[in-house]
Amino acid sequence: MSEEPIKVYRAKEIITMDPTAPSATAIAVQGDRIVGIGDSTDVIQWGVKEIDDRFDDYVLLPGFIEAHSHVMSGALWEFPYVGFYDREDPQGKIWQGCRDIESVLEQLTQYENRISDPDETLIGWGLDPIFLQGERLEAHHLDQVSTTRPIFVFHASAHLATVNSEMMRRSGIDRHTPTPGVARNADGEPNGELQEPAAMSLALNGLLSIGTAIMSSEAKWNYAREARNCGVTTVADLGTTRLAVEGQLEAWREATDQMSYPARVVVAFGHHDSGGSPADVDGLAALAVRLRDEEETAKLRFGIVKLILDGSIQGFTARLSPPYYLNPPQGHPGNGLWLIPPEQMPEIVSSYHRAGLTVHCHCNGDEASQVFIDAVEAALLEHPRDDHRHTVQHSQLTTASQYQKMYALGMNANIFSNHIFYWGDQHAAITVGEDRAAAMDACATAERENVKFSIHSDSPITPISQLHTMWCAVNRKTASGRILGPDERIGVHKALQACTIDAAHQLRLDKEIGSLEVGKLADLSVLARNPYEVPPEELKDIQVWGTMVGGIVHQAASE
Ligand SMILES: [Zn+2]
Repeated sequence: MSEEPIKVYRAKEIITMDPTAPSATAIAVQGDRIVGIGDSTDVIQWGVKEIDDRFDDYVLLPGFIEAHSHVMSGALWEFPYVGFYDREDPQGKIWQGCRDIESVLEQLTQYENRISDPDETLIGWGLDPIFLQGERLEAHHLDQVSTTRPIFVFHASAHLATVNSEMMRRSGIDRHTPTPGVARNADGEPNGELQEPAAMSLALNGLLSIGTAIMSSEAKWNYAREARNCGVTTVADLGTTRLAVEGQLEAWREATDQMSYPARVVVAFGHHDSGGSPADVDGLAALAVRLRDEEETAKLRFGIVKLILDGSIQGFTARLSPPYYLNPPQGHPGNGLWLIPPEQMPEIVSSYHRAGLTVHCHCNGDEASQVFIDAVEAALLEHPRDDHRHTVQHSQLTTASQYQKMYALGMNANIFSNHIFYWGDQHAAITVGEDRAAAMDACATAERENVKFSIHSDSPITPISQLHTMWCAVNRKTASGRILGPDERIGVHKALQACTIDAAHQLRLDKEIGSLEVGKLADLSVLARNPYEVPPEELKDIQVWGTMVGGIVHQAASE
């Protein structure tokens, strides 16, 4: 028996997500575990005299689980934000969105004035040209901010960057640069836009500074603070941490070992970041298994491998089946990019599968989903294995027949519901057209086909907040206010399952988190209102008081 005292918390209502006892009003916690749950009258049974009443006016739920985000989300706040939408930082401050190129330049100029070292690169982040009317941001615009200091503006998609002329000069980017992805004017001169990693890496100190920020301790803390502020108690860093780099495991341990660190983190093993060629995969799998078997702690978990198969739909780099893109930009090759050659997929998936790991594969386009599903089927034929939970990540254009196959194979999906709000209008008008946009991020289809699924923000791509993500899946309202694909809306209960117990299942943590039951970890979201009782269009507006992670209470930041 544990020596630690039992604490009893009373609440206005406790939603357990345990179907055998769906609601309660008091919860008993000892150390980091739940030891009792029921009504206040049951408290006597737990032998506790004093009751903590601080949540008397609040609704408690299992801590929300964000099963696809990135620690980069916590790193970028070191740099000025120049995205289109207003965004809240880890300290609770709201940053105004930049609605046009002038505001982007103004925001960067303010920062430029504060940097004393004339050689330090000015980095901005969050830019999304698809939302800015008129001309596209190019080097000559950024030259208005500085002609002597290098500037690197990282786009919201994380697939592109725009740099100024001084950055190009110092990095040797000119009309003779052969690297694909260096965008050019009609006269052949680079215009400052660098597409995808090979081109972005040419700009000295751009990606490198962001990479250094990602490895920092502050990024790990800010990531958890962002989670706490929106009621999330477990975050999955889906392949941003370079676990093979010396010191990264220790840095995660140092942060998550602190009692005051306000999140549980699943750090996925990034296949790309580890430089995995097919020949190395068995070695990488062995490293991922070792991390899972020997390095896990209560708040730091492993066992997931992340693959990235295609690009992004709004960037026209996702792999689609015919009829491909509706209105691709001039000179577009017709379909997107493979980031892993499809013919290598069976071997790669099979190596991780044989090692007993769970493979999560980024598939934005339906052609990519199919390649991954086929690779999982081949791996299972060769090496049958129950309950693998291999997961299609983003799953934005996955079709009903693909979901049927996924169900048959025992696969999961993690659906990028936030896209409906942030890019839904653009998907209907520009990328895939009305019909396919209405069937995107098809939570109701996944539900009908019995595929267990979660929903996600992919933060920093869109802001972390499971209440907002649930609002997207339940309402399917775009930024312009229209309902896109009403038949793919899901109910509040299903959305809550997707952000709690089914997300836990996907991360293989359902024995410990995802519902409030005796014996599970004491991870809670503390909300001002009951998600079942607010009008569905107000889900995203429910105020979050904070969280409890392993019995420790963490209050959200607010300004
Ligand atoms: Zn991602």
